[in-house]
Amino acid sequence: LFFAKTYSPLSSAEIIAREQSNMTADRFEHCVGVSQTAVRLAELNHYDQDKAALAGFVHDYAKQVPVSEYREVIKTQGFDQDLLNWNRSIWHGIVGVYFIQRDLKINDEEILTAVSRHTTADVEMTTLDKIVYMADFIEPGRSFPGVEEARKITYANLNEGVGYQLAHTLEFLIEKRNKIYPRTLNAYNVWSIKK
Ligand code: GDP
Ligand code: FE
Ligand code: FE
Ligand code: FE
Repeated sequence: LFFAKTYSPLSSAEIIAREQSNMTADRFEHCVGVSQTAVRLAELNHYDQDKAALAGFVHDYAKQVPVSEYREVIKTQGFDQDLLNWNRSIWHGIVGVYFIQRDLKINDEEILTAVSRHTTADVEMTTLDKIVYMADFIEPGRSFPGVEEARKITYANLNEGVGYQLAHTLEFLIEKRNKIYPRTLNAYNVWSIKK
């Protein structure tokens, strides 16, 4: 595990240490798996592997930040106040970028956008957005029914992977009668519909 100084003035060891101290061991292991899977997807899709490695590693940096801290940041740092009606599932990507900039000193727009979109996806997705979104879903630690099919589809065609994940997430949320974040629904309408 090593990150070149391209995207942060912090050393690789410092980024890893800060990430490790901000989450449980299980969550950290997931982030390592996402980083490694992102590298593989970058290679297959002719994208910068070092950048994908870092974006994948930090994607859940803020997953376990306390709710009270999130509410304070949403209220004071210029975020859409509607976010207060959601929870950490939605916050850790969209608002998570605030903590990544503050603590990990990463200001690269492409990396921050990929983190911001990694839970909900979006109508428009860059290659890095898709890589992080899919690596999160298929990293080696994931074991839900359908993960093998998801891996097969995603390694064959990144865009089809995005459509598959969005349909899977919508099914899961509807099954549980969970609220759908509008961005998730809008993304589904773009990426999952059969043409
Ligand atoms: P993780 O951070 O690695 O666990 O994975 P994600 O960031 O992809 O997802 C976190 C959680 O957000 C999952 O339980 C998703 O089902 C949930 N989620 C994704 N989209 C939505 C949505 O539109 N509404 C709600 N309520 N939850 C969502
Ligand atoms: Fe996440
Ligand atoms: Fe995800
Ligand atoms: Fe994740």
